[in-house]
Amino acid sequence: MNDLLDRANDMGANRYIDTRGAICEPVAFTQAVIDGLAPGGGLFVPQEIPHLPLEEIVSLAELPYPARAAAIYRAFNIDITDDRIDQLMDISYGDNFDTPEVCPIVSLDGDMHMLELWHGPTSAFKDMALQCLPNFFGESASKLRSEGALDEEFCILVATSGDTGKAALEGFKGVEGVSVGVLYPDGGVSDIQRKQMVTTTGDNVHVWAMRGNFDDCQTMVKRIFADDAYAEELAHAGYALSSANSINWGRLLPQIVYYISGYAELVKSGAVAAGDPIDVCVPTGNFGNILAAWYAKQIGVPIEMLMCASNENRVLTDFINTGTYDISSRDFVLTPSPSMDILVSSNLERQLFELTGRDGEAISGWMADLNRDRAFKVDKETFARMRNAFRSDSITNEECLAAIKRVFDEQGYLMDPHTAVACCVAENLKGQNPVLIASTAHWAKFGDNVYRALHGLRPGEALPEEVACLTGCQLNELIAEETGKQDIPAGLAGLDSMEPRFTEVLEADKQATEAAVSAFVSEQR
Ligand SMILES: *Cc1c(COP(=O)(O)O)cnc(C)c1O
Repeated sequence: MNDLLDRANDMGANRYIDTRGAICEPVAFTQAVIDGLAPGGGLFVPQEIPHLPLEEIVSLAELPYPARAAAIYRAFNIDITDDRIDQLMDISYGDNFDTPEVCPIVSLDGDMHMLELWHGPTSAFKDMALQCLPNFFGESASKLRSEGALDEEFCILVATSGDTGKAALEGFKGVEGVSVGVLYPDGGVSDIQRKQMVTTTGDNVHVWAMRGNFDDCQTMVKRIFADDAYAEELAHAGYALSSANSINWGRLLPQIVYYISGYAELVKSGAVAAGDPIDVCVPTGNFGNILAAWYAKQIGVPIEMLMCASNENRVLTDFINTGTYDISSRDFVLTPSPSMDILVSSNLERQLFELTGRDGEAISGWMADLNRDRAFKVDKETFARMRNAFRSDSITNEECLAAIKRVFDEQGYLMDPHTAVACCVAENLKGQNPVLIASTAHWAKFGDNVYRALHGLRPGEALPEEVACLTGCQLNELIAEETGKQDIPAGLAGLDSMEPRFTEVLEADKQATEAAVSAFVSEQR
């Protein structure tokens, strides 16, 4: 009854402001999820960050994972009823994951603890957020619809370099009132990644290959989003465009959960005494995952140091070590960890907003500098706060592959290249505290580089002929045989025998792409 009264209207719920101080009226969680980006280009953050006492954090280990997540969502006081949160969490973290633990911890030598975030349907950590966000998106849309604040359906357009596309397809498939279309670069993703996408089932999904590289795909999506005439045309068909990228607060919140849950697990297993500090090491690209760890610390998890692990695209390492973010003369490098190959790290804006004590004016200025000069420099005080919270290091492609081999040879644990970057950085920066390492993909998603690592081949070196001719699945079977690691996830192991559903290749042409999107949404009716 109390609960009903508390939530009889949303007036008591936490509201969302933006990082550039552009919106006048803070919005509800459901609105922030639907909008994604704030008007004015800033990112949404909650007005209030909850604080949980240590006992409450530790006692989460007694609950199943969906209930832990529901407890954190309730602490954030979102404008969805408690019962409904419970239901959505049960759907988000049920048997779509291959273990009821959802993200188990595997402890390695030297007080290093792997938080395995890849037990979801696509075998990469993006499932942790993208199995959850779509349920909140659907819920938010139907809430706004029932309030008469919305009458269209959504078409989510995603450009992908590999991992995000499949995770978005799996997350949004079957969600009421939403259709999802993915563009990937033709020839620019691995055999496994392509097959994962083009075999996706479900009526509300579509996948297109596009001639060009990832940047061409991303530019195309941006151009379509900026085309007002096209938006009007879609509106006539009853659709609005939306995106599911990692700047959506609805993708960040599910990521905070696993750091809180992870600490509770470490206490439960006896690896850490309640209240003792840990460090967290995260393989970083868009800064979403590590930012979630920073929020977990604000909520009360005894995290001392956040370690930001970069590959050869080391813009974040240089930024954390110097206070200057500079991409004016930086080349984009291809690495064995492609999901961390970035120049502009979009969630960093949220981190800076928090580190400046929520100074929207400062953020607007730096983002304008970045736009104009391809660089910005933070003030002394912000730099000092950043140095207080973060350490960072970057790893070469050679070091990454060497780490995969070393940890396998010495400890029998097989890592993917993204996890290997974090593992290496954790070794370099480790102090007294136990380190929780975010393990972000199953090794079988990146079989070619795992093979190179295990056989002492150089990064980018051609595979031997008899290996190069294998499909991604066959290569994984070979690695499984050689290593005894027979845990290839079902979603990856069966790809060769599945019929491709989507074979269309689009030219990187706006009209052609818009026509393809229109044809897709008109089939949805
Ligand atoms: C997306 C991704 C990352 C980077 O995460 P961010 O939140 O963008 O920093 C790391 N590893 C894998 C496997 C990923 O897919």
